[in-house]
Amino acid sequence: MNRITIVGMGLAGSCLAWELWRRQVPFRIVDDGIPGSSHVAAGLVNPVTGKNCAVSWRYREFVGVAERFYRDIETRLDCRLWFPLEVTRLIAERDEKMSSKLLQGEAAAWVIGERESHPWPGHKAYLLKGAARVDTAAFVRKSREFFAGLGNVTTARHQAVAGETTVWCEGAAGLLRANPLPWQHRCAKGEILTVHAPAWRQERMVIGRGWLVPLGDDFYKVGATYDWDMLDANPTSPGRAFLESIARDIGGADFRIVAHEAGIRPIIRKSQPVIGPLANGSVVFNGLGSKGALCAPLVANRLADWLIDGREIEADLSTQAYFADLTKL
Ligand SMILES: Cc1cc2nc3c(=O)[nH]c(=O)nc-3n(C[C@H](O)[C@H](O)[C@H](O)COP(=O)(O)OP(=O)(O)OC[C@H]3O[C@@H](n4cnc5c(N)ncnc54)[C@H](O)[C@@H]3O)c2cc1C
Repeated sequence: MNRITIVGMGLAGSCLAWELWRRQVPFRIVDDGIPGSSHVAAGLVNPVTGKNCAVSWRYREFVGVAERFYRDIETRLDCRLWFPLEVTRLIAERDEKMSSKLLQGEAAAWVIGERESHPWPGHKAYLLKGAARVDTAAFVRKSREFFAGLGNVTTARHQAVAGETTVWCEGAAGLLRANPLPWQHRCAKGEILTVHAPAWRQERMVIGRGWLVPLGDDFYKVGATYDWDMLDANPTSPGRAFLESIARDIGGADFRIVAHEAGIRPIIRKSQPVIGPLANGSVVFNGLGSKGALCAPLVANRLADWLIDGREIEADLSTQAYFADLTKL
């Protein structure tokens, strides 16, 4: 098989690189070295998401593959990437509809119970299982070191080259460029804080108006903003003020900000990733949205199945179905 070129080394490109490496397929990675959203993501993998307490699309299937994938890389690279978590989900006491959605809907399978005593007045606090945090920044950094050590990584901005099999894993940068294809993207900028807060003493992820997630040693990530208009990766003062208010509401007044970062989530269609061929003969893997840590391992596996073994891509993930749908709009 001809050598494959992977363009971009965030979660998408890194997961695909591991799939090709395992199958002993020749490949190289070209990445511009600009930190993408995988470097700022909190890496949350969470069964019940969003304001509606909906269960994440194909969660059981995705989370099983993701845990095996990251655990395997942990062993191979001698590091920790996968951190299982319980979640405390806060719901305003007056919002009975939301509580019954959580307790009686599909989400109920992930609910352990209601916390009796907790420090959030005016709220019910439900304990949920089945979540995790992936250290996405460490995963992409260590994957890069590993593949650079094998001589597979070039730091450059890649342009299309005729005749080679190129897989574009460019994240938001690829969706914002209307070339080679006009994606109907809904990319969203996100800002996030890393704080040091010994007084908080939270062992669980806490989700309310925003969320906080413990990183260990009294450090936490606090997130996140969503902005569909200003699509750049610059942290802003209003973003910082908003995140500080979340930190105060959920964690408490006593914290010190150690980092304030921003990135752009690559979002398309129903916030589901797509893989497969483009009309110009190249291949794409994009649209990981807010769930790259969860989705990238399984989707990379399906892409490698198609690239190497010719296995059909399921319609849910396929570029062909995505662009066919767009023409109907
Ligand atoms: C604030 C914030 C919080 C988030 N929190 C979570 C979370 O808790 N859980 C979760 O799962 N997801 C989260 N996400 C989303 C997550 O970051 C994305 O789903 C995922 O990182 C996207 O990975 P990617 O590989 O597609 O893109 P990227 O990580 O952006 O990687 C693409 C890389 O390719 C490079 N590149 C682009 N074009 C070229 C080219 N032509 N040549 C060479 N290199 C190129 C880019 O510079 C970039 O480094 C969050 C995102 C943000 C912004």
